[in-house]
Formats: sequence, structure tokens, C-alpha cells
Amino acid sequence: NTAWSAQASADDAASLDYDYSGLRETLQRYFASRATKPLQWRQSQLQALLRMLTDNKDALSDALYKDLGKCKQEAYVTEIAFLQADIKHALKHIKSWMKPVRKSSPLVAMPAKSYIVPEPLGAVLIIGAWNYPIQLTLSPLIAAICAGNCAVIKPSELAEHSSAIMAKLLPEYLDKKAFAVVEGGKDQTSALLAEPFDKFFYTGGEQVGKIVMRAASEHLTPVTLELGGKSPCVVDSNIDFKIAANRIVWGKWMNVGQTCIAPDYVLIEQDAVDDFIAAMKQAIESQYSTEPKSSKEYGRIVNQRHCQRLASYLEGQDVIYGGQIDVQERYISPTMVLNPEASSKIMQEEIFGPLLPIIVMPTKQAIVEFINKRPHPLAAYLFTQDKDFEQVFVNNVTAGNMCINDCSMFMLNHNLPFGGVGTSGMGRYHGKFGFDTFSHEKTVMRRSFKLENAFRYAPFTKFKSFMLN
Ligand code: NAD
Repeated sequence: NTAWSAQASADDAASLDYDYSGLRETLQRYFASRATKPLQWRQSQLQALLRMLTDNKDALSDALYKDLGKCKQEAYVTEIAFLQADIKHALKHIKSWMKPVRKSSPLVAMPAKSYIVPEPLGAVLIIGAWNYPIQLTLSPLIAAICAGNCAVIKPSELAEHSSAIMAKLLPEYLDKKAFAVVEGGKDQTSALLAEPFDKFFYTGGEQVGKIVMRAASEHLTPVTLELGGKSPCVVDSNIDFKIAANRIVWGKWMNVGQTCIAPDYVLIEQDAVDDFIAAMKQAIESQYSTEPKSSKEYGRIVNQRHCQRLASYLEGQDVIYGGQIDVQERYISPTMVLNPEASSKIMQEEIFGPLLPIIVMPTKQAIVEFINKRPHPLAAYLFTQDKDFEQVFVNNVTAGNMCINDCSMFMLNHNLPFGGVGTSGMGRYHGKFGFDTFSHEKTVMRRSFKLENAFRYAPFTKFKSFMLN
């Protein structure tokens, strides 16, 4: 208890070094001027962001290469082009998203008109993550702009080059009165969280997620938490292992496993495990060669600390493929581990790196029970041809997002919400769901002066009581 209190007061002291009250007030004043409400302003900011991405494609992918060794193509597909598509979708639909939505009215309220008016929240705080540092910082910003908000953007300090380039470029393209970038780590974030913003949108791990939520309770600030967890990948027998392995290798080793929705571990029955492992080895070598360290397509771990954390997960495990580690170069090869104990560190913590445990299970029922005994994951994957098993899986496994016979592809569909459940997060975004996340849905009912119904007014005579019952 004493240690905890000492830590808490050290945290408080650190946050006193920074004061963002002036910044937050300036943005809230600008918001109050209603400058950010018109459709034209929102469209102009989205178009400016689109220009920023197009004009600076190379500089942005250079930053991603420096932070994570991401090759140009991967940087383009998973970050830059992803955001461009996000903006284009928003520009196409924003006008209809902003329209009031008409609702029916009950008989007792007639004559009346009922509708919902989406309203921006105000000045919001967006805290980004380091693994897709540009996508995960700017995608919430797109949603915040669509809904007509001002925002402070706090990129992750762990991806320092991406953070620096966003801090340089965003003020060059966006309305400086509405948006500001604050760079920094724990101290700056703590000081920002102490401010009464109108919304916190946080992407990252569970521990900091709790800190964000505690801070939000102080001012009753609404929060969206995009967190992580251990996403299971179930592989059934009697499927095309070559295609399944290609897709799993793509979903797992993209960005060296540092993807919140990457398959964390595989569950499989005994009769399929040998064919599956053979197909996985082939798929790894066809995508990243037998020398992934010199493959242009294979990136690096974000820092040495995370490299050491991942290396510690392999202690005492049956490594059936890979296992090469070079902490100095932040390199870990694609690695598969067979049957780790459920109580081992690799099965207790979110891996968030290029290690894939494969666990042999006795039955399909045991597979579903194994997943459901653990905290709800951000994603769950199933590869099967068996329609009955698919139905059991969809109806009985709770996860933020699910994909059958592939990994991560739901991210490309702007019509689907993206978000976690339980410890993998709360709230959702992408497309219209992002617009809703940064809006308040204001209820409006318009009554008429016609048809006055006096039954609801006191005094409640016997006749009125009879009629009301
Ligand atoms: P983190 O939670 O440690 O850090 C994220 C942010 O929090 C950074 O901006 C950092 O400056 C700030 N921060 C760190 N310590 C803080 C403190 N004590 N007080 C206040 N702010 C603090 O990030 P991480 O855990 O390394 O990120 C990885 C996690 O993020 C994984 O669990 C992953 O699954 C999850 N993730 C989720 C998504 C999603 O979209 N749901 C996307 C990417 C990553």
C-alpha cells in the first residue's frame, strides 16, 4: 500500500511539470465559436488531411521504416492508403451522417415530431499507439473531424519518428485553431488527462487504459478505449492448409506480430497439427524467405525492451520453428512454439510480437471452452469448412471482432464497427461508427399546440384516474 501511494504521488508530481489548461481552453473557446460545426469546415479539414498524406507519402513511410523497419509497401497499405480510403469514405457520407434522424412518436405524445440531432462533443483528446503509429493516431482524428470536434493529438513517444513527422505536418495542413499535437510520454499524457476534455479516445494497453478511465472519472469525461488481448485462431481439420497458412502468416507476421488483432495463438486438434505446421513453415519461407533477417519485408521490434520481453517468453518452451533473437538489432525471427502450458507467461500475457504458440486440443468443445475461460479477446479467428462448427463459434465465442477463414480483413470494411469488448476495450469506430463515437445524439421532440390532452394534469379526479388506468 505504501509503495503504491509513493508511486501515485510520484506520478502526480511528474504531471505538475506540464500544464495544458491554456491549450484545452483555447480549443474549447474555438469550438464554442461554432467554427467547426459547418459541413464545409469538416470537408475542408478532411481534404487537407488527404493532401497531407498524399504530399508526404515518402516522408511518412520513411518515419515508419525508422520506427519499425516497415517496408514501403506495408507502410502504404496498412497506414497511408488505409487512411486515404478512410477519408474518402467519410467525404462521401459525411453529409448524410450529419442529417437529423427522424423517429416515430408514440400515440400519447401525438401530434409530435421526434428526431435525433448528432452534435459534436467539443475538444477531444486522442492518445495514439506506436505499432501503427500513423493509422492509429489519424484514424480517430478523421472521425473527430467528421463529427465537428477540435482535438489534441498525442502520438506515442515509442514511435518517435512518426510522432515527430505528425507534429510537424498536422499544423501545416489543418486549422491550427482547432487542432494541436502534443508530443511526449507518460508525464505529458498524465497532464493532458488531468484536463476536462470533452472526450478521451485512447489506443494502447490495458494498464494505461485503466489510468485513462480513472482520470476520466474525475471530470465525467466520456471514454473510448481501444485495447488489446490474446486473440485466438482456431484451425479445423479438412481445410486447405496452404491457403489457411498463407493467411495466418500474413495476419501474424505483418509488422512483426505487433498488431493488436494479430492471431496470438492457434488452437487445433491432433489430426490436423502436422499438416498445419508443415504448411505454416512453407508459408513463412515463401513470404519472408529462409533468412527473414535480411528480408526487406520483415520489420523490427519497436525497441530492445520489448525484444527482451518477447525473448523471456521462450524460456523453457518447445520452439519448433525460428527462435533466432538479436536484441541489439531488435530482431526476432518468425517463431512457433508447441503446446506451452496455459499457466506459462507466453499464454498469460498478450504476445504482441512474432511468436506463435500452437496448442493441441482434444475436441472442438474444449476449444470453445478454452477461449471462453479467458478474457474476451479483441479478435477471434476460425478456419473451417464445417458450417455447424462455424455457427457454434459465432454464437458462443465473445470477441470484439471475428473473421472466418481469414485474418484481419474486417478492418477493410468501413461498414463494420471496430472495437473491443470487456478487457479488450469499450466503444468502437471506423466509418459512421467513428462519427457516432465523437458525437452526442441529442433527442428533440417537437410538440404541437393542437389537441391538448389534459388528462396528465392534476387534480386527478376519479374520471381522469379511470381514464389513465
Ligand atoms: P501503452 O498503453 O503503454 O502506451 C500508449 C500511450 O499511453 C502512449 O501514448 C504513452 O505515452 C501513454 N502512457 C504510457 N504510460 C502512461 C502512464 N503511466 N500514464 C499515462 N499515459 C501513459 O502502449 P502499449 O501497451 O505498449 O501498446 C500495446 C497495446 O496496445 C497492446 O495491448 C495492443 O493490443 C494495444 N493496441 C490496441 C489497438 C486497438 O486498436 N485496439 C491498436 C494498437 C495497439
